[in-house]
Amino acid sequence: MRPTTQREGSERLSDSVIHALLAASLDYESSLRGLAGAAVPAFADACLVHVLDEDGAIRAVAGGEAPDPELDERVARVIRSGERETGADFIVLPLPGRERTLGAISFVRARGDLEEAEEITTRAATLVDNARLYSELRRSRDQLRIILDGVTDGILVHDRRGGFVFANESAAIACGFATVEELVSTPPAEVAARFELLDEQGVPIPHEAVPSRLVLQGAPSAEQVMRWRFRESDEERWSVTKARPVLDERGEILYVITIFTDITALRAAEQERSARKFRAIVESAPDALLGVDASGLIAVANEQAETLFGYAREELLGHPLEMLWAKANGAGHTGLRKDGSEFPAEVSVSPLDGDDQPLGIAIVRDVTERRRAEERIAHLAFHDGLTGLPNRSMLEGHLEMALGRARRGGQSVALLYIDLDEFKLVNDSLGHIAGDELLRQVARRLGALKRESDLLARQGGDEFLLLVPDLDCSDHAGSAPSAVARIAERIHWALRDPFVVEGLECRLGASVGVSIYPHDAGDAPGLLRHADAALYNGKALGRGTTVIYADDEADPLERLSLTTRLRRAVERGEFVLHYQPVVDLEDGSIAGVEALVRWDDPERGIIAPREFIAAAEGLGLIERIGDWVFEEACRQAREWRRAGGVLHVSINLSLRQVWQSDLTEKLLARVHRAGLSPDRFILEITESTAMTGSVRGEQTLQALADAGFRLAIDDFGTGYSSLARLKGMPVEILKIDRSFVSDADTEDSSKGIVKTIVELSHNLGLSPIAEGIETPGQWRALRDHGCRLGQGYLFSRPVPADEVPVGAVALPA
Ligand code: C2E
Ligand code: MG
Ligand code: MG
Repeated sequence: MRPTTQREGSERLSDSVIHALLAASLDYESSLRGLAGAAVPAFADACLVHVLDEDGAIRAVAGGEAPDPELDERVARVIRSGERETGADFIVLPLPGRERTLGAISFVRARGDLEEAEEITTRAATLVDNARLYSELRRSRDQLRIILDGVTDGILVHDRRGGFVFANESAAIACGFATVEELVSTPPAEVAARFELLDEQGVPIPHEAVPSRLVLQGAPSAEQVMRWRFRESDEERWSVTKARPVLDERGEILYVITIFTDITALRAAEQERSARKFRAIVESAPDALLGVDASGLIAVANEQAETLFGYAREELLGHPLEMLWAKANGAGHTGLRKDGSEFPAEVSVSPLDGDDQPLGIAIVRDVTERRRAEERIAHLAFHDGLTGLPNRSMLEGHLEMALGRARRGGQSVALLYIDLDEFKLVNDSLGHIAGDELLRQVARRLGALKRESDLLARQGGDEFLLLVPDLDCSDHAGSAPSAVARIAERIHWALRDPFVVEGLECRLGASVGVSIYPHDAGDAPGLLRHADAALYNGKALGRGTTVIYADDEADPLERLSLTTRLRRAVERGEFVLHYQPVVDLEDGSIAGVEALVRWDDPERGIIAPREFIAAAEGLGLIERIGDWVFEEACRQAREWRRAGGVLHVSINLSLRQVWQSDLTEKLLARVHRAGLSPDRFILEITESTAMTGSVRGEQTLQALADAGFRLAIDDFGTGYSSLARLKGMPVEILKIDRSFVSDADTEDSSKGIVKTIVELSHNLGLSPIAEGIETPGQWRALRDHGCRLGQGYLFSRPVPADEVPVGAVALPA
């Protein structure tokens, strides 16, 4: 034995084995190879090292020149049993591992002692065990690396001082590096300088506030949606970044793990989706939708906006919203179309959040139709749908107002209730459509005759209401009932011409009930009620009547309504004729007389025509009175002729008489019966009657003239005659109204007018007769103007026939 050598050899041997094993600690595979490589020359002849593979196979890693089945058998046994085997020339020691036997080392006995072999084995066992462990660790680290690199989220691990410990590939790429190594080897500050971190709203996130820093400063965790704006490329990426600490057993931070999930694509998709959704909403909106950016320019416009305003989208986008308004004040906008037309618009503006999206959304709706509908509804509330006339509600409102004014001004207000007499017949026989048409025609005719201040309403069915808010009593008729009767007369008259409905002619009459403020009632309901009651009475009396309400409570003398009393007067013949001479202004000779009717009322005595003629006209009684007058005048004329006096008799005709189709025949028959000639009669019609413009009226006048009657226009100057019309009429005489005559000698202007009328008559080939001459001055003036004839109190009042002066009257000196 050469212990020293052996020892030296063993020293070397153990060192080289240990070195090989140390190297193997880095990598099991290579360590085994290294172990073998390093060991073989050193202890090729000294020892053999066998180790177990991971799969349990026994592998010789060092030593051994030729295969030695005996040795292999021995090694396998030792490894299996973990027990050493010693023989005369060998020692096989197991390499004990932490969990199992790792292998065996076989020594040649002659080259070392047992003690040394044991020492080597112990150290080698530790090294092999470690090597295997390290290898395992490394493998699992590599596995982990592969896994972590495969993760799409970026993972960054910092140590407690903020230095990089780990980064996966995604983290490197996210931070703008090609490889993990590049990232990890770059100082954190430099990495941070590559990009700017912004929050969702675009506000920069300071370095201390990024999640990893917050956790390093003690936050248990931190999370932040971040925008990464790369300074170099200006590229922008979005991430959700979460940081969490890894603590050691004392609770101190070991690492900070930061994971950032790239949501750039997600966000883009989401934005695209929401933009799409936004566009879809915008387009599908039933109204015009305009998005406006912060500077008031249109950024979004839908198709409805194009249609509504008449602009193409390109003409809207980028232009100020203001160009779409003609007027804008509060909610009341007036839209302005491209073609310059305007429309009422309802606009609602609401703010909208969003970076790329408009800041304000204006929803615009054309409310023309709605306005119209509202107006229509408002109209319907106060109008009758069929005729378009105001309805009863509106009439009541106006009646109240009229009464208010009348109370202050002391005027009269009349309410006429009009009911069509034969309407039901038409409606039943021709049907509702024809009935409706008829009502519309009636409404038009009645509407045409009312004055501007009057209000015609449809009460419903075939009933109409006429409100006369300021009854004009200034005409000849003088009193309110007469004035109303005149209006009623015009109503009857308006309905006289046949109506043509569906090609058929139909005739209608109306009954009219009247009440008058303040006489019949003091308030609106009272007037309405009383007009209705009067109508009811009228209906009972017959068709085509007018009944003026008479309150039972009134003066006993008034108890019977005017209607009833007049009717009775007609039946009883309570009328008398007075005559006023028509005088030659040159010599005072009597040229004729004018017959003027009076009502000899047993209760009230003689009543002047202005108190009842209009009413008689309105009540449909004038024809009968007129008939009587003519009859009586004929009788009287015949008497005068017998007596050899009075050349002409003037008789006044009412409009309603002129409307009688058989008037001419009737008068002619009477004249002939009296044995007289028609040219002895002058028929006076008022200027307004003559000028109604009705064909039938004109035909009657012509027929009368043709029959030989002489025609006079009465009250000339009070109406609005068309001289052209006058010229074509079969009229011979113009009676100059008293209003001009009374001022003939005093006022210059009237003097002028009378003079003009006289001249006008002459120019038209007409004879003027001046009415109402009361003073010598008037007489003289008229005579000097060339007016040959005149009548008036100066010469004689209207008097009974037997009091008419004979031959001539005395003229003033
Ligand atoms: P008129 O035909 O213009 O008759 C003249 C009126 O003037 C008469 O009033 C007469 O009395 C009045 N008169 C005559 N001279 C003077 C005078 O110097 N001074 C004044 N202040 N008045 C004078 P009367 O009789 O009250 O008749 C009023 C109107 O009644 C007539 O106006 C006529 O339009 C109508 N009338 C009278 N009788 C009849 C008739 O039988 N049938 C029709 N339909 N109407 C009649
Ligand atoms: Mg007259
Ligand atoms: Mg007159």
